[in-house]
Amino acid sequence: MPEAVRRGAPTPPIEFGVATASVRARFEPAEVAVDDRIINKLKQVCDRVEVDARDRVQAGRDWWPLTISWALSGEVPARPAAVVMPSTATEVAAVVACCADLRIPVTAAAGRSGVCGGSVPVFGGVVLDLTGLQGIVDIDDQSLLVDLLPGTFGDVLEESLRTQHGLTLGHWPQSITLSTVGGWVACRSAGQYSTRYGKIEDMVVGLEVALSDGRLIRTGGTAPRAAAGPDLTQLFVGSEGTLGVITEVTLRAQPVPPAERRAAFGFESFSAGLDSCRRILRRGATPAVLRLYDVTESRRTFDVSDGNVLIVLDEAEAPLVDATMELVVDECGQAERLGDDLVERWLAHRNDVSALESVTRHGITVDTIEIAARWSALSAIYEDVISALSQIDGTLVASAHQSHAYRDGACLYFTFAGRPAPEASADAASAAEAGAAERYYRRAWDAVMSLTRSHGGAISHHHGIGINRGRHLAPALGPAFDVLVGLKAALDPTGVLNPGKLGLPSPFGEVPWP
Ligand SMILES: Cc1cc2nc3c(=O)[nH]c(=O)nc-3n(C[C@H](O)[C@H](O)[C@H](O)COP(=O)(O)OP(=O)(O)OC[C@H]3O[C@@H](n4cnc5c(N)ncnc54)[C@H](O)[C@@H]3O)c2cc1C
Repeated sequence: MPEAVRRGAPTPPIEFGVATASVRARFEPAEVAVDDRIINKLKQVCDRVEVDARDRVQAGRDWWPLTISWALSGEVPARPAAVVMPSTATEVAAVVACCADLRIPVTAAAGRSGVCGGSVPVFGGVVLDLTGLQGIVDIDDQSLLVDLLPGTFGDVLEESLRTQHGLTLGHWPQSITLSTVGGWVACRSAGQYSTRYGKIEDMVVGLEVALSDGRLIRTGGTAPRAAAGPDLTQLFVGSEGTLGVITEVTLRAQPVPPAERRAAFGFESFSAGLDSCRRILRRGATPAVLRLYDVTESRRTFDVSDGNVLIVLDEAEAPLVDATMELVVDECGQAERLGDDLVERWLAHRNDVSALESVTRHGITVDTIEIAARWSALSAIYEDVISALSQIDGTLVASAHQSHAYRDGACLYFTFAGRPAPEASADAASAAEAGAAERYYRRAWDAVMSLTRSHGGAISHHHGIGINRGRHLAPALGPAFDVLVGLKAALDPTGVLNPGKLGLPSPFGEVPWP
């Protein structure tokens, strides 16, 4: 039976190829023992403690593309001993403190739409499911601030902000129906309209956080631009559940914009398109959407025979939109003007992720890798990465688009897909094929991460680190990684908060995925 998809609840990425009771956990050897005594202690601090096999296997995976194919052969990456579902911040804090006392791993999870294994409970223990904390707590319309519970799903939130309050966040990740406010903040999420509204770190002004010793603290949120020491809110933004658990979020909102305009252009080269984007931003225009697709993706997405398609959409008060679009047209003078229907086509399909399942079912290893860099490095990164991915044995396609642009640089969003040849010497053909897929996958990721670093780029723009990028974070941060290790030791001395992530040392051992 297909899994029912409920609004306001996690959406599983794919059905298992076996009955739920037969699903195995690939990281099982790393699991920490959890006995009935511990389950009973958890039940004393939280009303809902699920130990049912179905809940546990679903909480053992997210949308990390590599592991979606594991599900077809009846595997999840890991399996928690219990899924604990608090309904208040006080319960969250009590569960976290209980786990710290008992030295049990506790992994925050919400939409489970992460694509790097961030919510996977590597060492078992407890999955702390935040989806019991949903809704708008308060709206300060004069100050355009909204207080939200962390398990609130994006589509539900946006609908109620628009229809009941005339407001919008302007935050439209492709995963809007799959992901939550707390997950966005924990992973430094980016929406498709980020050029006008910024990423989630630009929208968040305050947090409530449960610390590993059970304290609930508040950071920021009371007054704008406070100069009261370092910004502790930003300490938790992007910390992926390793430093504390977010129990409330204060975000900036916007009045629903009254005007919108669209445009599309075709560039002869990707680098010419990048240069126009750069000049548009340099002149102070910030169209909400400014996305440039390379030739491969332009064909696939827009069905054009040639050229690199740039789509532009802006929304705001009409005079602002008009001024923005005037600058856009001015800076795209050398490009061919294409029909606005291309923007319409993008809008209609922008959240359709069905291709991932069908490609995976065809035995193809596929993933996307988003990085960020200065304008001065972007063209070289694009050329080098596409060339490196294309040269890996088994690659069927390597392509990219520029998905989020700012005055100082942009995000390049690469897609690769391949079918590596299985190794002839292995006994079981399917096992050999799986091993080949993972080796191929690793080569692709290692190539992109190291080329990005060599050009001075950032290894992630919005998907975060999780398990998959863990081995790349220390080299990316250099000596500053020790500061992160020190922060982790200070805020989570027993190391129970989401162990095995961000490449941080873990008291429970090595992560089974290198
Ligand atoms: C099809 C698809 C498209 C996507 N498109 C985008 C996109 O356009 N932009 C984008 O930014 N991302 C995108 N993502 C990635 C993903 O949706 C984001 O990373 C999202 O922010 C994760 O939110 P979540 O609620 O699903 O978190 P989860 O996957 O449940 O958790 C992610 C991480 O956050 C931590 N976490 C969750 N809640 C809390 C909390 N309350 N306190 C502390 N830590 C917490 C978890 O421990 C984990 O480390 C996409 C994913 C998919 C599958």
